[in-house]
Amino acid sequence: MLLTNARVIDAAGRQVLERATVRIDCGRIAEVAAGEGAPSDAGLDLEGRTLMAGLIDAHAHLSSDISRSPDFGPPAPLKGELPRPRELGYFVLAKAARALLAAGITTVRDVGSYDDEAIVLREAVRLGLVEGPRIISCGRIISATAPGGAIFTTMYREADGPDEMRKAVREQLRRGADFIKLMATGARSVVAEDPEPAQMTREELGAIVDEAHRLGVRVAAHVEGLAGARVAVDARVDTIEHGLSLHREPRLLDAMASSEIVLVPTLSTFHDLAERFTEAFAPALVEQAQRQLEEAYLTLVAARSAGVTLAMGHDSGPPGHNAIELVRMVEGGLPALEGIAAATHGSARALGLPDLGTVTAGAVADLLVVDGDPLADVRMLCDPERIWMVVQDGRVVGGRARAQELAPA
Ligand SMILES: [Zn+2]
Repeated sequence: MLLTNARVIDAAGRQVLERATVRIDCGRIAEVAAGEGAPSDAGLDLEGRTLMAGLIDAHAHLSSDISRSPDFGPPAPLKGELPRPRELGYFVLAKAARALLAAGITTVRDVGSYDDEAIVLREAVRLGLVEGPRIISCGRIISATAPGGAIFTTMYREADGPDEMRKAVREQLRRGADFIKLMATGARSVVAEDPEPAQMTREELGAIVDEAHRLGVRVAAHVEGLAGARVAVDARVDTIEHGLSLHREPRLLDAMASSEIVLVPTLSTFHDLAERFTEAFAPALVEQAQRQLEEAYLTLVAARSAGVTLAMGHDSGPPGHNAIELVRMVEGGLPALEGIAAATHGSARALGLPDLGTVTAGAVADLLVVDGDPLADVRMLCDPERIWMVVQDGRVVGGRARAQELAPA
């Protein structure tokens, strides 16, 4: 495939190439040439539209539970109707996968779902049963025995003591996980948990990181309070999820920058609890989230100036609206090009997949063509009308151009 006359945003290289030609061969980018006019009858003329790497959501929960996605799933059952079969949930997952891809989200990192649903969906996509983004999943989240376990049930694997932590890591790999996720602190969405102290001991968290790294997989740490942040950063996890308290201790941000620990700020999830679903959560949690929301934005700015790699993690719904997180990062202080870098290259680094998230020769051809200039207004990445073409592994899989059959088959 040859794409000509493209305005290429190479966010990884922090540059924009005008009138560029991108040649794709065997699912990878073979060549990116700026300002060189290829014969106009060869390939697809993008007419100056913006071509960038496909978006990568580094913090999603691929779940048939659509409580943060009102109106995305089936209407609520009416009184008197037969109970819904549990298996309907798999169709919700399939709809989510298609919605993500249509929105230009070409890769998703699932950080915890119920009943291994994300692994099932990953396999369905891989086997060609449903169209969807590239998925990597943590299996179950490893947590110390904690109140959250009573709420998050099969999303968690509770474990206590270093040996059991090692076993919990091995179990996730056995069930098909691609990486490990752990709870370094409690969760802001659980009344009985204080998100400030570390929830695991240094020995427990260290055992998880050691076991995972020895076996060659990465570790994502749910971190809210500072005490847990210290334990997770000192243990050299690979990504910090949320991490809102980090602005309070610049030493930790410096350590993250020098050890290449990626921060996934998940601003949207704080908006959810503080503003969007205030009726659904206990009042104490809403109040707490309002404080955390302010802190999350302070940490975004502090992490940027410390040189920490940032990634885009929506941690909310509905599927397909993920780019609102990119918009929020830009509104919070990132220049648009850096926001796009976070949502592509930064997320790829969070996933440990350097072949993704960049428009350079040799990279996987997961691409997004936007009708307009997202550097002038990143909000257009949330507008389905502007998503002109979505390319995955060098194949056109979505976008308005495909719908109108303008693109090559
Ligand atoms: Zn989450």
